[in-house]
Amino acid sequence: MGTTASAPRPPESGNYVLRVFRIEPGQTIIVRALSKRVEGLATHYARGKSEYCNPDGCPVSLHKEKRFWKGYAAVELWFERPGVWAPYVLEVTEALELDFRGKWARGQLWQIDRLPVTTKNKPPVTGLLLEERDPDSFPPAFEILPTVARLYHADVAFGIPSWIPDRTIVGLTHDEGPKALKTQDGQTPSNKTMKEIAEEMKSKGWKPPTPAL
Ligand SMILES: [Zn+2]
Repeated sequence: MGTTASAPRPPESGNYVLRVFRIEPGQTIIVRALSKRVEGLATHYARGKSEYCNPDGCPVSLHKEKRFWKGYAAVELWFERPGVWAPYVLEVTEALELDFRGKWARGQLWQIDRLPVTTKNKPPVTGLLLEERDPDSFPPAFEILPTVARLYHADVAFGIPSWIPDRTIVGLTHDEGPKALKTQDGQTPSNKTMKEIAEEMKSKGWKPPTPAL
């Protein structure tokens, strides 16, 4: 698996076995939503792969591993060439679900991205709502449970909402900055760095505040 962008390949024939689509690093896809909602379950990452966490009895050795939420939805993927929509079960990560949260509805087109993985960074999957169309113009949603059950080789059940809390959105404040950074005419000196200013202030006897632990 490389780190360069690779477009998914369209199914080779008109009819094929429905599969789960898991976006790879470096890929960008366009999907349209057939499911009214994203269905969820819990998993554990063990022995290099995701295992289903059965809420009615998960093996102790498995259940002590960290839990990750995973979501699934019936979608169609757009293939620019030859210009077709192809059905897939989209796998939704915890981060992607936060982008979908409060927005996802049948009839929508989403762009989904996963940036390439680097040694320093493992970028999350992100979703951007592109369009909203008349859901009645879309094909009906198909069953996704049997395909997800096959993926986990288990008798899976949905119904677990993501336990990741909402993102906290904050905003910038355009209020006055510290007086110490201003010259007498009220302008912030542009030719000094914050560090130089701090050194200058220290030489005048100023002590930096003790940081809170
Ligand atoms: Zn478990």
